[in-house]
Amino acid sequence: MDLSGKTAVITGSTSGIGLGIAQGLAEAGADVVLNSFTDRDEDHALAEEIAKAHGVTARYIKADMSKGAECRLLIEQSGACDILVNNAGIQHVAPIDKFPTEKWDAIIAINLSSAFHTTAAALPLMRTAGWGRVINVASAHGLRASPYKSAYISAKHGILGMTKTVGLETARENITANAICPGYVLTPLVEAQIPDTAKEYDMSEDEVIEKVILEKQPSKEFVTVEQLAGIAVFLCSEMAAQVTGTSISADGGWTSA
Ligand code: NAD
Repeated sequence: MDLSGKTAVITGSTSGIGLGIAQGLAEAGADVVLNSFTDRDEDHALAEEIAKAHGVTARYIKADMSKGAECRLLIEQSGACDILVNNAGIQHVAPIDKFPTEKWDAIIAINLSSAFHTTAAALPLMRTAGWGRVINVASAHGLRASPYKSAYISAKHGILGMTKTVGLETARENITANAICPGYVLTPLVEAQIPDTAKEYDMSEDEVIEKVILEKQPSKEFVTVEQLAGIAVFLCSEMAAQVTGTSISADGGWTSA
């Protein structure tokens, strides 16, 4: 797959899935724009590492995906956006009657509304280029619910609806819009929860992984960021030109049940 000459903007890409997809797209030759809400030396260093490793242009642009105007500015500052990966996301777990309103608002803003703003800003650039790919990182939780994750599940179900709509609106324009629905991925976010959960349940860390975290994932294996990057690269290929307005699951069988 040769994505040279294409520019990919990946929101929330200083760690985990976003970083993995950025690396995969850069390996396929795309220039990449990394993003998060911080402005640390290590954020810019990540971009330099990717540029050096893959011989592409890589930049880091600070923009807070909870703010619509900053989402749109990210696309404007990127200059080009042939591939848009809406990946930034956060989580909060609480029963709905105790769910803090500010957490609800932040999750809906970062996990759902940011994709509205970035997509709205990126489509005119894709139309001018005559080619485009929108890839929304949803979740198995876009297709199935779990208790105590009302905001996350609402946002992830919502982004699947937006994906279908953008797919229809761009169907005749050489632009596709699709979602990837991962099951559990061992990102720093998930890793950090294991020691505390082990203490809470009086289990070993291995037992926590199998019986608590991967309880819903029939394969009992984590999805890897490299596997998700492979799906993103496929969605950017000409082989996927007629794949639009849909989602690809990588969840070890979770949503088969
Ligand atoms: P992560 O915490 O490792 O990465 C999240 C990224 O988003 C980080 O770079 C973080 O800095 C950035 N971010 C957070 N708030 C932001 C903001 N306001 N503005 C800009 N950037 C912001 O998490 P991850 O596990 O890699 O998750 C990435 C995406 O994948 C999320 O949308 C998440 O819902 C989804 N997902 C994760 C899993 C999993 O098991 N890890 C499963 C399914 C879906």
